[in-house]
Amino acid sequence: MTERRLTTAILLAVGTELTVGETRDTNGGDLARELTALGVEVLRLAALPDDLAAVTAGISDALAAADIVVTTGGLGPTPDDLTREAIAAACGEVPTVDAGLEAWLRDLYTRRGLEMPPSNRKQAWLIPSARPLPNPVGTAPGWWVDRPDGRVVVALPGPPREMTPMWRNEARPRLGTRGVGVDRAAATLRLTGIGESALADLLGEARLRTANPQVATYARHDAVDLRVSATAADGPAAAALVDRAIAEMGPLLAPYLFARGDETWSDAIGARLAGRSLALVEIGTGGQLGGLLGAAPWLLFAETLAPTTPLARRHRDMAAYARRVREIAGVEIGLAVRARERAGDMAVTIATDIEGLVARTTRTAFLTGDQGRRRAALAAAAELWRRLGDGAPKGRAS
Ligand code: ATP
Ligand code: MG
Repeated sequence: MTERRLTTAILLAVGTELTVGETRDTNGGDLARELTALGVEVLRLAALPDDLAAVTAGISDALAAADIVVTTGGLGPTPDDLTREAIAAACGEVPTVDAGLEAWLRDLYTRRGLEMPPSNRKQAWLIPSARPLPNPVGTAPGWWVDRPDGRVVVALPGPPREMTPMWRNEARPRLGTRGVGVDRAAATLRLTGIGESALADLLGEARLRTANPQVATYARHDAVDLRVSATAADGPAAAALVDRAIAEMGPLLAPYLFARGDETWSDAIGARLAGRSLALVEIGTGGQLGGLLGAAPWLLFAETLAPTTPLARRHRDMAAYARRVREIAGVEIGLAVRARERAGDMAVTIATDIEGLVARTTRTAFLTGDQGRRRAALAAAAELWRRLGDGAPKGRAS
C-alpha cells in the first residue's frame, strides 16, 4: 500500500432526509472543523440521497479528488441504508458477512433477550480492504477502508451521538498514525469600531490577496473577525508565519482589537474589569446588553427598563444614572444606556462611571427593532470596554 500523506478531504452526508431538508447536516460541519484542525484541507461538503447510484458516484468522484473521504449515515440495517454497498461498488469489491462482527452483533441482541432480525446481518458486512470501527453506542459498526493508492474512506453512522464518539475514539486516532495534514496554523483577531470594508482598506489589497499567510475578514454579529491562517511547506513553521503576520499588522489593528479566538465581549470586558464588578441599567435595548454579557460573575446588577416607564422618563441623565446604579449596587463600575429610535436608526446614549470617573457619549446604531437594539447593546459593550482601557485609576472611589 502506498504511503500517502493525507492532506485533503471530502465529506459526504448520506440520507434523503438531508436532501429534502427534513434534517440538517450537522455532521459535515462538525467533521470539517475537526479535519481542518488536523491540518487537512476540506475540499467539499455534500449531501446525497439514499440512492445507490448517486452515493456510489459521489464516493468515486470524491476518491478521485481527495485523500480522505468521510461518509456519515446509511449504515443502518434497512434497505435504504446503502453506504456499504456504495463503498464496495466504488472500490470494486464484494461485501461478505464477517464472522467476528456477526457474533458481536448477535451478542448485542442476545444480551437483551432478543433475536437478531435477519436484516441486521448486513451490519456485519466487510469488504476485503475494510476494517470495522467499533460502535459502542449503536448497532452500526463503521468502516475504515484503505485504498491501494493510499487514500482512505471512513464510513461513520449518521446519528451525531454515534458519529462523534466513533470519530473521536476510532477514526481520528487512526488518521493521526497515518500522517495527516500539513503544518497549518490560524489565529482570529476580534475587532470593534471598524467595518469590514474600512478594515479591508486599512490592511490593503495586497495583504488580503496573499495566499500564505492568508488574511480574511468576516463580519460576525458581534464583531469583525480577522482570521490569519498559514500553511508551512519548507519555510518557517505555520505558527511562526501567523505570528509574524499578526505582529506586522499589530500597530494598525491595536485600536480595534478587543479579543482573540473564541473570546466574547463578556470575556474582553471581564479581563479589563480585573476583579472589579459592574452594575448596569439599560433602557430601550430589550435587555440585550445583559444578555450579551451573559452570566458573568462580575455582573452584580442588571436592570432593564422599557423607555415608556415612569422610572425611565425620570432618569434622562445617563451620567447620573450610571453613578446611581453603581452606588445602589455598591460596585466599582456603573453603566447606563438608553437607546431611542431616531430616523430609522437608534440614537444610543452611553454613560460609564468607573470608580467615580463619569463619562458620557452618544452613538448611532444602525436600524431599529431587534437588530437596532442588539447593535445598541454592542455599542454600549464596546464603549465600556474602551473606557475601561483608558487607564482609569483603580481604587479611587468617589
Ligand atoms: P442508524 O443505524 O441509526 O439507522 P445510519 O448510519 O443508518 O444509522 P441514518 O439512517 O442515515 O444513519 O440516519 C439516522 C439519523 O441520524 C437521522 O434520522 C438523523 O436524525 C441523524 N443524521 C443522519 N445524518 C445526519 C447528518 N449528516 N447530520 C445530522 N444528523 C444526521
Ligand atoms: Mg438508518
